[in-house]
Amino acid sequence: MALIVQKYGGTSVGTPERIKSVAARIKRCRDQGQEIVVVVSAMSGETNRLLALSREVSSHPVPRELDVLLSTGEQVTIALLCMALNELGCEARSYTGAQVHIRTDSVFNKARILEIEEQKVRDDIAQGRVVVVAGFQGVDQCGNITTLGRGGSDTTAVALAAALEADECQIYTDVDGVYTTDPRVVPQARRLARITFEEMLEMASLGSKVLQIRAVEFAGKYGVPLRVLSSFEEGEGTLITKEEEQQMERAVISGIAFNRDEAKLTILGVPDQPGVAYRIVGPIGDANIELDMIIQNVGADGTTDFTFTVHRSDYEKALDILRQLADDLGAREVEGDDKIAKISLVGVGMRSHAGIASTMFQALAEEGINIRMISTSEIKISVVVDDKYLELGVRALHSAFQLE
Ligand code: ADP
Ligand code: ASP
Ligand code: MG
Repeated sequence: MALIVQKYGGTSVGTPERIKSVAARIKRCRDQGQEIVVVVSAMSGETNRLLALSREVSSHPVPRELDVLLSTGEQVTIALLCMALNELGCEARSYTGAQVHIRTDSVFNKARILEIEEQKVRDDIAQGRVVVVAGFQGVDQCGNITTLGRGGSDTTAVALAAALEADECQIYTDVDGVYTTDPRVVPQARRLARITFEEMLEMASLGSKVLQIRAVEFAGKYGVPLRVLSSFEEGEGTLITKEEEQQMERAVISGIAFNRDEAKLTILGVPDQPGVAYRIVGPIGDANIELDMIIQNVGADGTTDFTFTVHRSDYEKALDILRQLADDLGAREVEGDDKIAKISLVGVGMRSHAGIASTMFQALAEEGINIRMISTSEIKISVVVDDKYLELGVRALHSAFQLE
């Protein structure tokens, strides 16, 4: 009998009606002879509602208590789904993360799963039950409730699939697969039948929130067959595969990812000397701020301009640090811009094809979009542009690379 882990996202369990239709789908799979373990998210909007509630009582909610609060969203949906399943005559049991021992580290709000003691789940399956596990949550070694970061139910599902050696991990959501880019921004976007783990990891890291980054990492590492499908219609969805499994001649670009989560900072006119880059990024790192893109230009007067991006939520903090450093380093000026967006092309085909960057820059130039920063790696090219050009840029690139 095939063992399948199915994960249903917030929209898929957003109303009692939808929960009933998820239950009906699970029942059909059971009737076809599959063993099913289900992971659910909170009802759509619920995690945001809880976050907003916490901010009404505290400007910086204590991370431990925030996890106690946020984890309640998923406790509601596991119970409701099991009630709906039992109503259909399909015996089901719900468990919170702690009850099935999803053991994590103690980094509240973005904990990592360390291990899962899956015996309880196996016992229920052996009894013919459907097991429904709360996504997004775990428990640390002291018994504290933890959560796994936004979108973390995807990771719960993949981790459970790995622990149970499931035949497939299916992520049911409000789109019928992974598209060439977010179909909400480009209606002509096309569903991909397959995408490699490596490409999916880049897409997720560069802003495509259809799968949580950790979930893709985990699936790649443990070889979990992963598929993204629609909760609302039947279909094959998108299979995330190893590269060698992709037989056909591939498109050079698989997809376009984008995000508005970053901000750009520049310290201008610092001396062009050894150690200066270190003196700039050292204090930024010490403040626990992660850098993404970095550019350094040497000017004709022998000074350099040093530019980098950080997460938008760290912008003010990074700006303060740079202003303090400016005097010490004898810098001319500090500039910042938090109205930027990053657009990235992703594709393993880039390894063997030249000219991708020039096609990309030409398409943006034709729309009059100025490129502020560029960074490349083996299978991606990212550019930073003004926030207001994000959608125009994504559409222009989608058509320039004929992804429709
Ligand atoms: P869930 O609540 O089911 O976890 P999410 O909102 O996290 O759903 O993820 C699904 C959404 O991801 C889609 O509605 C879509 O707008 C967005 N998305 C972004 N990039 C892509 C992409 N390349 N392919 C498909 N969906 C994408
Ligand atoms: N409910 C959590 C969130 O909204 C986890 C998830 O849906 O995956 O981020
Ligand atoms: Mg999600």
